[in-house]
Amino acid sequence: MRIDLHTHSLVSDGTDTPAELVALAREAGLDVVGLTDHDTCAGWGEALAVGERLGVAVVPGIELSAHEPVAGEAPGAPATDRRAVHVLGYGVDPTEPTLAAELAAIGGGRRDRIPKMLDQLALLGLPLTLEEVRAQAGDAVIGRPHVADALVARGYVGHRDEAFARWLRDDGPIRVRRFTPDVDRAVDLIVGAGGLAVLAHPWARGGQQRLTARRIEELVAEHGLAGLEADHPDHDAGQRASLRRLADRLGIAATGSSDYHGLGKRGHPLGACTTSDEVWSHLRTRLLLVR
Ligand code: AMP
Ligand code: FE
Ligand code: FE
Ligand code: ZN
Repeated sequence: MRIDLHTHSLVSDGTDTPAELVALAREAGLDVVGLTDHDTCAGWGEALAVGERLGVAVVPGIELSAHEPVAGEAPGAPATDRRAVHVLGYGVDPTEPTLAAELAAIGGGRRDRIPKMLDQLALLGLPLTLEEVRAQAGDAVIGRPHVADALVARGYVGHRDEAFARWLRDDGPIRVRRFTPDVDRAVDLIVGAGGLAVLAHPWARGGQQRLTARRIEELVAEHGLAGLEADHPDHDAGQRASLRRLADRLGIAATGSSDYHGLGKRGHPLGACTTSDEVWSHLRTRLLLVR
């Protein structure tokens, strides 16, 4: 079986509709595809319906924005993207009140941060209006990729990736604090909403400093973390092997996925990394059991 458990549609920062994404998953020969948009479950209905029609098993998921706090900081303090951590939640109930309230707060933080980013971009000599960014996002959960698209549309750079490399990357010149839960809370929210929590690309883009093996162990023991994404395009071979060994030692799932963001975006194709049959069968059983 070909199993890809982490993808994005245009309800967040991907470029395909959920229906297109599932059709493309079928063309790519995937049997199972996880739809894990940032901080929203809005694509689930469409993806599940098309999956049923086309014979692709769609796993409803979400990629929650979170952060690793620094010692001594007040809980709930807004954080910059330097400390960003993403947690995948499979099979969560999006109507569970605590999760639903947190998603609303994260969405508010996402919207509030855009004007602050635009102020900083203007200081760098890159003025953009809020309307230009909103035009890129449409109804999607708004994020840095839409700011990047607006910078491209203005002709400041040629591509989304360049905008990240020059200005928008986590450790780049734009520093804006926004509301996200800390990682412990993010895992608790997913588990509390009946889902399975899996760390997304834990060691990508400097994540190895943020999420040590010791810290991941604590998330498993104290919060019920169910897995980590070992095979991800942003991990090198050494990181993948170490993460697989860590997952084995902790008795949690080591998943693999593409983190596909759509045909309109440079990046990795569907199925670029995949999850093994054994790991999927284990996760699937747990998903059915918690229901
Ligand atoms: P946000 O959720 O608004 O903080 O934006 C984060 C998203 O931006 C990630 O999920 C990626 O899709 C994208 N992203 C982050 N860093 C980069 C990068 N260095 N190059 C390209 N895209 C990136
Ligand atoms: Fe993304
Ligand atoms: Fe992510
Ligand atoms: Zn993702």
